[in-house]
Order: sequence, then structure tokens, then C-alpha cells
Amino acid sequence: MSLPPCPICKSEFTYQDQTQLICPECAHEWNPEEEHANSQSTVKDANGTLLNEGDKVTLIKDLKVKGSSLILKVGTKAMIRRIVEGKDHQLDCKVDGAGEMMVTAKFVKKA
Ligand SMILES: [Zn+2]
Repeated sequence: MSLPPCPICKSEFTYQDQTQLICPECAHEWNPEEEHANSQSTVKDANGTLLNEGDKVTLIKDLKVKGSSLILKVGTKAMIRRIVEGKDHQLDCKVDGAGEMMVTAKFVKKA
């Protein structure tokens, strides 16, 4: 039987204690049933920092906006309105000077 990796540090050395799973690396304890139920984000920025709704981020590279000639410059600030997991563009952002758009998590870093 294999246990899921730690949702915080991705350690594979998790072990089970009754209903809890425990990570020996970062001491995170969680209940896999609950973890599944609540919608805690596992979307990470370019540095591996977990992103949450409401976080402010900055772009780490120029991004061309699909379907337009607009280019979002590196360093542009954005605010995460919503996180959509499992897609190409995980972050529904309000971008300074550009309005609402979807941004790929690995192209931003938490401000
Ligand atoms: Zn951990």
C-alpha cells in the first residue's frame, strides 16, 4: 500500500497514524479524507510557493496574451481571483493594466 506524498513539501516518506497521515520532513499532519474534501490549493508559483486566492503575484517573464497583440511585461503585478486546478492556466487573475485573464502558475511568483 502506498501513501500519497506530503501536500506541503512533497516528501514521499509519509506514514499513517490511525486516520492521520504524517510527514516526517515538515511535520505536516493531515487527514487524507478531509484533504480530498476541502479545496485547498496545491497550485505553486515558479519558486514552489503555494498560491492562494487573493494572493498578489508578479510575472517572471513576458507573456503574450492569446488572441491579441498585448504582451504582459515581466514584473507586471496581478491579483489571484480564483484558482483553477488541473488546467493549463491555473490562475484567474486581475492583471494590472490588462484586466482579468488566465495565467499559468509557473510564470508568476508570489509578491
Ligand atoms: Zn511535508
